[in-house]
Amino acid sequence: MMTRSREVQLKRRPSGLPQPDDFQIAEVDVGTPGEGFVLVKNICMSVDPYMRGRMVDRKSYAPPFKIGAAMNGGAIGRVLESKHPEFREGDYVESNFGWREGFCAKGDVLSPLGKLVAPPSAYLGVLGMPGMTAYVGLLEVGQLKDGETVFVSGAAGAVGSIVGQIAKIHGCQVIGSAGGPAKIRFLTEELKFDHAFDYHGADLLEELRAAAPNGLDVYFDNVGGDHLQAALSHMRPFGRIPLCGAIAQYNATEPPPGPNNLTLAIGLGLTLRGFIVSHFNNLRGEFRQQMEAWIVDGQIRYRETTMYGIERAAEAFIGLFTGENTGKMIVQFEA
Ligand code: NDP
Repeated sequence: MMTRSREVQLKRRPSGLPQPDDFQIAEVDVGTPGEGFVLVKNICMSVDPYMRGRMVDRKSYAPPFKIGAAMNGGAIGRVLESKHPEFREGDYVESNFGWREGFCAKGDVLSPLGKLVAPPSAYLGVLGMPGMTAYVGLLEVGQLKDGETVFVSGAAGAVGSIVGQIAKIHGCQVIGSAGGPAKIRFLTEELKFDHAFDYHGADLLEELRAAAPNGLDVYFDNVGGDHLQAALSHMRPFGRIPLCGAIAQYNATEPPPGPNNLTLAIGLGLTLRGFIVSHFNNLRGEFRQQMEAWIVDGQIRYRETTMYGIERAAEAFIGLFTGENTGKMIVQFEA
Protein backbone atom coordinates (compact mmCIF):
# COMPACT_ATOMS: atom_id res chain seq x y z
CA MET A 1 0.00 0.00 0.00
CA MET A 2 1.23 3.49 -0.85
CA THR A 3 1.91 5.56 2.27
CA ARG A 4 4.32 8.18 0.91
CA SER A 5 4.33 10.18 -2.33
CA ARG A 6 6.78 12.51 -3.97
CA GLU A 7 5.41 15.86 -5.13
CA VAL A 8 6.72 18.85 -7.04
CA GLN A 9 6.58 22.15 -5.18
CA LEU A 10 7.12 25.67 -6.44
CA LYS A 11 10.30 26.87 -4.74
CA ARG A 12 10.22 30.45 -6.03
CA ARG A 13 8.33 32.43 -8.64
CA PRO A 14 10.08 32.23 -12.01
CA SER A 15 11.21 35.34 -13.82
CA GLY A 16 11.14 34.91 -17.61
CA LEU A 17 11.63 31.33 -18.80
CA PRO A 18 11.20 29.03 -15.74
CA GLN A 19 14.39 27.28 -14.58
CA PRO A 20 14.74 23.78 -13.03
CA ASP A 21 15.69 25.24 -9.65
CA ASP A 22 12.44 27.20 -9.46
CA PHE A 23 11.00 23.80 -8.43
CA GLN A 24 11.76 21.25 -5.71
CA ILE A 25 10.70 17.68 -5.00
CA ALA A 26 9.51 16.66 -1.52
CA GLU A 27 8.28 13.37 -0.11
CA VAL A 28 5.15 13.54 2.02
CA ASP A 29 2.72 11.24 3.84
CA VAL A 30 -0.36 10.44 1.79
CA GLY A 31 -2.64 9.39 4.63
CA THR A 32 -5.20 6.60 4.66
CA PRO A 33 -8.71 7.05 3.27
CA GLY A 34 -11.48 7.79 5.74
CA GLU A 35 -15.19 7.64 4.94
CA GLY A 36 -15.91 9.21 1.51
CA PHE A 37 -12.20 9.30 0.59
CA VAL A 38 -10.22 7.51 -2.13
CA LEU A 39 -6.52 6.60 -2.31
CA VAL A 40 -5.16 7.06 -5.83
CA LYS A 41 -1.84 6.26 -7.48
CA ASN A 42 -1.17 8.52 -10.45
CA ILE A 43 -0.27 6.92 -13.77
CA CYS A 44 0.55 10.15 -15.58
CA MET A 45 0.22 13.89 -15.20
CA SER A 46 -0.14 16.86 -17.47
CA VAL A 47 2.02 19.94 -17.82
CA ASP A 48 0.20 22.80 -19.51
CA PRO A 49 1.14 26.33 -20.59
CA TYR A 50 -1.57 27.93 -18.40
CA MET A 51 0.36 26.76 -15.32
CA ARG A 52 2.93 29.46 -16.07
CA GLY A 53 0.27 32.06 -15.20
CA ARG A 54 -0.31 30.31 -11.87
CA MET A 55 3.35 30.75 -10.97
CA VAL A 56 2.83 34.51 -10.89
CA ASP A 57 1.26 36.07 -7.80
CA ARG A 58 -1.72 37.78 -9.41
CA LYS A 59 -5.44 37.24 -9.62
CA SER A 60 -6.55 35.18 -12.62
CA TYR A 61 -9.13 32.55 -13.54
CA ALA A 62 -6.98 29.99 -11.67
CA PRO A 63 -5.46 30.92 -8.30
CA PRO A 64 -1.66 31.32 -7.99
CA PHE A 65 0.43 28.37 -6.77
CA LYS A 66 1.79 28.83 -3.25
CA ILE A 67 5.52 28.86 -2.62
CA GLY A 68 6.74 25.69 -0.86
CA ALA A 69 3.51 23.82 -1.57
CA ALA A 70 2.69 21.15 -4.14
CA MET A 71 1.41 22.47 -7.45
CA ASN A 72 -1.64 20.88 -9.00
CA GLY A 73 -3.03 20.14 -12.45
CA GLY A 74 -4.55 17.36 -14.53
CA ALA A 75 -3.66 13.73 -13.76
CA ILE A 76 -4.93 10.25 -14.49
CA GLY A 77 -4.61 7.64 -11.76
CA ARG A 78 -5.90 4.33 -10.52
CA VAL A 79 -7.80 3.73 -7.32
CA LEU A 80 -5.79 1.73 -4.78
CA GLU A 81 -8.39 1.86 -2.02
CA SER A 82 -11.86 3.42 -1.85
CA LYS A 83 -14.19 4.38 0.97
CA HIS A 84 -16.50 6.17 -1.48
CA PRO A 85 -19.50 4.33 -2.99
CA GLU A 86 -18.81 5.50 -6.57
CA PHE A 87 -15.21 4.24 -6.79
CA ARG A 88 -13.71 0.77 -6.70
CA GLU A 89 -10.16 -0.48 -6.56
CA GLY A 90 -8.65 -0.43 -10.07
CA ASP A 91 -10.94 2.31 -11.45
CA TYR A 92 -9.32 4.97 -13.62
CA VAL A 93 -9.90 8.48 -12.29
CA GLU A 94 -9.20 11.94 -13.59
CA SER A 95 -8.24 14.53 -11.00
CA ASN A 96 -6.64 17.88 -10.47
CA PHE A 97 -4.00 16.24 -8.21
CA GLY A 98 -1.14 16.23 -10.70
CA TRP A 99 2.49 17.09 -9.86
CA ARG A 100 2.52 14.17 -7.36
CA GLU A 101 2.78 10.41 -7.53
CA GLY A 102 -0.29 9.68 -5.44
CA PHE A 103 -2.84 11.20 -3.11
CA CYS A 104 -5.80 10.62 -0.86
CA ALA A 105 -8.82 12.83 -1.58
CA LYS A 106 -12.57 13.08 -1.26
CA GLY A 107 -14.26 11.03 -3.99
CA ASP A 108 -16.51 14.00 -4.79
CA VAL A 109 -13.64 15.94 -6.39
CA LEU A 110 -12.58 13.04 -8.66
CA SER A 111 -14.08 12.08 -12.02
CA PRO A 112 -14.43 8.41 -12.94
CA LEU A 113 -13.12 7.83 -16.48
CA GLY A 114 -15.20 4.74 -17.20
CA LYS A 115 -14.17 2.56 -20.11
CA LEU A 116 -11.11 3.81 -22.00
CA VAL A 117 -10.68 3.50 -25.77
CA ALA A 118 -7.07 4.73 -25.66
CA PRO A 119 -4.16 4.64 -23.17
CA PRO A 120 -4.74 6.73 -20.00
CA SER A 121 -2.38 9.50 -21.14
CA ALA A 122 -4.68 10.26 -24.08
CA TYR A 123 -7.24 11.47 -21.54
CA LEU A 124 -4.84 14.29 -20.65
CA GLY A 125 -4.40 15.23 -24.30
CA VAL A 126 -6.55 14.51 -27.31
CA LEU A 127 -9.41 13.11 -25.18
CA GLY A 128 -8.89 15.55 -22.32
CA MET A 129 -8.65 19.27 -21.72
CA PRO A 130 -6.52 20.19 -24.78
CA GLY A 131 -8.66 18.15 -27.19
CA MET A 132 -11.80 19.71 -25.77
CA THR A 133 -10.19 23.16 -26.13
CA ALA A 134 -9.62 22.49 -29.81
CA TYR A 135 -13.17 21.19 -30.25
CA VAL A 136 -15.08 23.99 -28.54
CA GLY A 137 -12.62 26.69 -29.63
CA LEU A 138 -12.97 25.87 -33.30
CA LEU A 139 -16.61 24.83 -33.52
CA GLU A 140 -18.32 26.96 -30.85
CA VAL A 141 -16.08 30.01 -30.52
CA GLY A 142 -14.76 29.95 -34.09
CA GLN A 143 -18.16 29.02 -35.58
CA LEU A 144 -16.37 27.01 -38.26
CA LYS A 145 -18.20 26.37 -41.52
CA ASP A 146 -17.41 23.57 -43.95
CA GLY A 147 -14.87 24.43 -46.62
CA GLU A 148 -13.42 27.53 -44.95
CA THR A 149 -9.75 28.51 -44.78
CA VAL A 150 -8.25 28.05 -41.31
CA PHE A 151 -4.90 29.08 -39.86
CA VAL A 152 -3.74 27.67 -36.52
CA SER A 153 -0.56 28.65 -34.71
CA GLY A 154 1.20 26.34 -32.27
CA ALA A 155 -0.05 23.80 -34.79
CA ALA A 156 2.09 20.82 -33.77
CA GLY A 157 1.12 21.07 -30.09
CA ALA A 158 -1.63 19.39 -28.08
CA VAL A 159 -4.39 21.86 -28.99
CA GLY A 160 -3.16 22.98 -32.42
CA SER A 161 -2.68 19.49 -33.85
CA ILE A 162 -6.31 18.66 -33.05
CA VAL A 163 -7.66 22.01 -34.30
CA GLY A 164 -6.16 21.38 -37.74
CA GLN A 165 -7.52 17.85 -37.97
CA ILE A 166 -11.05 18.85 -36.92
CA ALA A 167 -10.94 21.54 -39.61
CA LYS A 168 -9.87 18.91 -42.17
CA ILE A 169 -12.82 16.72 -41.14
CA HIS A 170 -14.98 19.74 -42.02
CA GLY A 171 -13.45 19.97 -45.48
CA CYS A 172 -11.44 23.08 -44.72
CA GLN A 173 -8.15 24.26 -46.14
CA VAL A 174 -5.75 24.16 -43.19
CA ILE A 175 -2.53 26.09 -42.64
CA GLY A 176 -0.37 25.64 -39.56
CA SER A 177 2.71 27.30 -38.11
CA ALA A 178 5.18 25.56 -35.81
CA GLY A 179 8.85 25.53 -34.88
CA GLY A 180 11.31 23.49 -36.94
CA PRO A 181 11.30 21.15 -39.95
CA ALA A 182 10.37 17.96 -38.05
CA LYS A 183 7.14 19.57 -36.83
CA ILE A 184 6.36 20.86 -40.32
CA ARG A 185 6.75 17.34 -41.73
CA PHE A 186 4.52 15.98 -38.95
CA LEU A 187 1.79 18.48 -39.90
CA THR A 188 1.85 17.97 -43.64
CA GLU A 189 2.77 14.28 -43.92
CA GLU A 190 1.10 12.73 -40.89
CA LEU A 191 -1.79 15.09 -40.14
CA LYS A 192 -2.43 16.06 -43.78
CA PHE A 193 -2.48 19.83 -43.24
CA ASP A 194 -2.62 21.56 -46.64
CA HIS A 195 0.30 23.79 -45.75
CA ALA A 196 2.61 24.34 -42.79
CA PHE A 197 5.52 26.70 -42.23
CA ASP A 198 8.30 27.18 -39.69
CA TYR A 199 7.70 30.54 -38.01
CA HIS A 200 11.32 30.99 -36.87
CA GLY A 201 12.78 33.88 -38.88
CA ALA A 202 9.74 33.86 -41.20
CA ASP A 203 7.81 36.82 -42.59
CA LEU A 204 4.50 35.59 -41.20
CA LEU A 205 2.27 37.74 -43.40
CA GLU A 206 4.15 36.68 -46.55
CA GLU A 207 3.77 33.03 -45.52
CA LEU A 208 0.02 33.48 -45.05
CA ARG A 209 -0.38 35.35 -48.34
CA ALA A 210 1.42 32.57 -50.20
CA ALA A 211 -0.50 29.74 -48.47
CA ALA A 212 -3.96 31.35 -48.64
CA PRO A 213 -4.09 34.00 -51.36
CA ASN A 214 -7.78 34.66 -50.71
CA GLY A 215 -7.39 35.25 -46.98
CA LEU A 216 -8.40 33.48 -43.79
CA ASP A 217 -11.88 32.77 -42.44
CA VAL A 218 -10.68 31.53 -39.05
CA TYR A 219 -7.45 32.14 -37.18
CA PHE A 220 -7.13 29.93 -34.08
CA ASP A 221 -4.67 31.85 -31.92
CA ASN A 222 -2.43 29.83 -29.58
CA VAL A 223 0.55 32.16 -29.76
CA GLY A 224 -0.51 35.84 -29.72
CA GLY A 225 1.97 38.65 -30.53
CA ASP A 226 3.34 38.66 -34.07
CA HIS A 227 1.13 35.72 -35.12
CA LEU A 228 -2.05 37.53 -34.14
CA GLN A 229 -0.91 40.70 -35.89
CA ALA A 230 -0.07 38.87 -39.13
CA ALA A 231 -3.34 36.92 -39.13
CA LEU A 232 -5.36 40.11 -38.50
CA SER A 233 -3.82 41.59 -41.64
CA HIS A 234 -4.96 38.61 -43.70
CA MET A 235 -8.53 37.99 -42.51
CA ARG A 236 -11.53 37.86 -44.81
CA PRO A 237 -14.66 39.88 -44.05
CA PHE A 238 -16.58 38.47 -41.06
CA GLY A 239 -13.69 36.18 -40.11
CA ARG A 240 -13.45 34.76 -36.59
CA ILE A 241 -10.44 34.65 -34.28
CA PRO A 242 -10.82 32.38 -31.23
CA LEU A 243 -8.29 33.76 -28.71
CA CYS A 244 -7.19 30.52 -27.09
CA GLY A 245 -3.73 31.37 -25.78
CA ALA A 246 -0.72 33.66 -26.19
CA ILE A 247 2.23 31.43 -25.34
CA ALA A 248 4.72 33.83 -26.95
CA GLN A 249 3.92 36.24 -24.11
CA TYR A 250 3.72 34.01 -21.02
CA ASN A 251 7.36 34.51 -20.01
CA ALA A 252 7.42 38.23 -20.82
CA THR A 253 9.00 40.36 -18.10
CA GLU A 254 7.57 43.61 -19.59
CA PRO A 255 4.00 44.14 -20.87
CA PRO A 256 4.11 43.01 -24.53
CA PRO A 257 2.94 45.43 -27.25
CA GLY A 258 -0.55 44.90 -28.63
CA PRO A 259 -1.21 44.23 -32.32
CA ASN A 260 -0.86 47.55 -34.17
CA ASN A 261 -3.60 46.71 -36.68
CA LEU A 262 -6.58 45.91 -34.49
CA THR A 263 -8.73 48.55 -36.21
CA LEU A 264 -8.90 46.23 -39.24
CA ALA A 265 -11.44 44.28 -37.20
CA ILE A 266 -13.91 47.17 -37.50
CA GLY A 267 -14.27 47.41 -41.27
CA LEU A 268 -14.01 43.65 -41.78
CA GLY A 269 -16.57 42.86 -39.08
CA LEU A 270 -14.22 40.39 -37.42
CA THR A 271 -15.05 38.56 -34.23
CA LEU A 272 -12.19 38.15 -31.76
CA ARG A 273 -13.42 36.08 -28.83
CA GLY A 274 -11.46 34.86 -25.85
CA PHE A 275 -12.52 31.68 -24.11
CA ILE A 276 -11.57 29.20 -21.43
CA VAL A 277 -12.39 25.58 -22.11
CA SER A 278 -14.36 25.30 -18.86
CA HIS A 279 -16.87 27.86 -20.19
CA PHE A 280 -18.12 24.92 -22.26
CA ASN A 281 -18.28 22.21 -19.59
CA ASN A 282 -21.83 21.46 -20.75
CA LEU A 283 -20.30 19.96 -23.92
CA ARG A 284 -17.96 17.50 -22.17
CA GLY A 285 -20.14 14.45 -22.87
CA GLU A 286 -20.66 15.36 -26.53
CA PHE A 287 -16.93 16.05 -26.94
CA ARG A 288 -15.80 12.75 -25.44
CA GLN A 289 -18.23 10.71 -27.52
CA GLN A 290 -17.28 12.48 -30.77
CA MET A 291 -13.52 12.48 -30.18
CA GLU A 292 -13.46 8.80 -29.17
CA ALA A 293 -15.36 7.96 -32.35
CA TRP A 294 -12.93 9.99 -34.50
CA ILE A 295 -9.95 8.25 -32.87
CA VAL A 296 -11.39 4.76 -33.16
CA ASP A 297 -12.14 5.22 -36.87
CA GLY A 298 -8.76 6.87 -37.56
CA GLN A 299 -10.00 10.36 -38.49
CA ILE A 300 -8.01 11.97 -35.68
CA ARG A 301 -4.41 11.00 -34.99
CA TYR A 302 -2.43 12.14 -32.01
CA ARG A 303 1.14 12.21 -30.84
CA GLU A 304 2.55 12.50 -27.33
CA THR A 305 5.98 13.49 -26.07
CA THR A 306 6.64 11.55 -22.87
CA MET A 307 9.05 12.22 -20.02
CA TYR A 308 9.33 9.48 -17.42
CA GLY A 309 9.29 10.04 -13.66
CA ILE A 310 8.38 12.89 -11.36
CA GLU A 311 12.04 14.00 -11.42
CA ARG A 312 11.44 15.13 -15.01
CA ALA A 313 8.16 16.98 -14.45
CA ALA A 314 9.77 20.44 -14.22
CA GLU A 315 11.85 19.73 -17.33
CA ALA A 316 8.68 18.68 -19.18
CA PHE A 317 6.94 21.88 -18.14
CA ILE A 318 9.86 24.10 -19.18
CA GLY A 319 10.00 22.19 -22.48
CA LEU A 320 6.60 23.61 -23.46
CA PHE A 321 8.26 27.02 -23.81
CA THR A 322 11.26 25.77 -25.75
CA GLY A 323 9.20 23.60 -28.10
CA GLU A 324 10.44 20.17 -26.90
CA ASN A 325 7.04 18.60 -27.47
CA THR A 326 5.25 17.39 -30.56
CA GLY A 327 1.63 16.80 -29.61
CA LYS A 328 0.80 16.59 -25.92
CA MET A 329 3.59 16.75 -23.33
CA ILE A 330 3.03 13.96 -20.77
CA VAL A 331 4.85 13.01 -17.59
CA GLN A 332 4.42 9.27 -17.18
CA PHE A 333 4.88 7.52 -13.82
CA GLU A 334 3.98 3.98 -14.78
CA ALA A 335 2.33 2.07 -17.62
P1 NDP B 1 1.43 22.87 -26.77
O1 NDP B 1 1.32 21.40 -26.75
O2 NDP B 1 1.11 23.59 -28.04
O3 NDP B 1 2.90 23.25 -26.27
C1 NDP B 1 3.36 24.53 -26.34
C2 NDP B 1 3.99 24.82 -27.73
O4 NDP B 1 4.02 26.21 -27.92
C3 NDP B 1 5.44 24.39 -27.83
O5 NDP B 1 5.57 23.05 -28.21
C4 NDP B 1 6.02 25.35 -28.85
O6 NDP B 1 5.97 24.76 -30.15
C5 NDP B 1 5.03 26.53 -28.84
N1 NDP B 1 5.71 27.76 -28.40
C6 NDP B 1 6.40 27.95 -27.25
N2 NDP B 1 6.87 29.21 -27.20
C7 NDP B 1 6.48 29.82 -28.35
C8 NDP B 1 6.67 31.12 -28.89
N3 NDP B 1 7.36 32.07 -28.24
N4 NDP B 1 6.13 31.40 -30.11
C9 NDP B 1 5.44 30.46 -30.78
N5 NDP B 1 5.24 29.20 -30.32
C10 NDP B 1 5.74 28.90 -29.12
O7 NDP B 1 0.51 23.48 -25.64
P2 NDP B 1 -1.07 23.37 -25.59
O8 NDP B 1 -1.56 22.78 -26.84
O9 NDP B 1 -1.44 22.77 -24.30
O10 NDP B 1 -1.51 24.91 -25.53
C11 NDP B 1 -1.48 25.70 -26.72
C12 NDP B 1 -2.06 27.08 -26.40
O11 NDP B 1 -3.43 26.93 -26.01
C13 NDP B 1 -1.35 27.80 -25.25
O12 NDP B 1 -1.32 29.17 -25.54
C14 NDP B 1 -2.28 27.53 -24.08
O13 NDP B 1 -2.16 28.49 -23.07
C15 NDP B 1 -3.61 27.56 -24.76
N6 NDP B 1 -4.68 26.83 -24.06
C16 NDP B 1 -5.83 27.53 -23.79
C17 NDP B 1 -6.89 26.90 -23.20
C18 NDP B 1 -8.14 27.67 -22.96
O14 NDP B 1 -9.04 27.15 -22.29
N7 NDP B 1 -8.26 28.88 -23.51
C19 NDP B 1 -6.82 25.50 -22.77
C20 NDP B 1 -5.57 24.83 -23.18
C21 NDP B 1 -4.54 25.51 -23.79
P3 NDP B 1 6.90 25.29 -31.37
O15 NDP B 1 8.05 24.35 -31.44
O16 NDP B 1 5.97 25.22 -32.52
O17 NDP B 1 7.33 26.68 -31.03
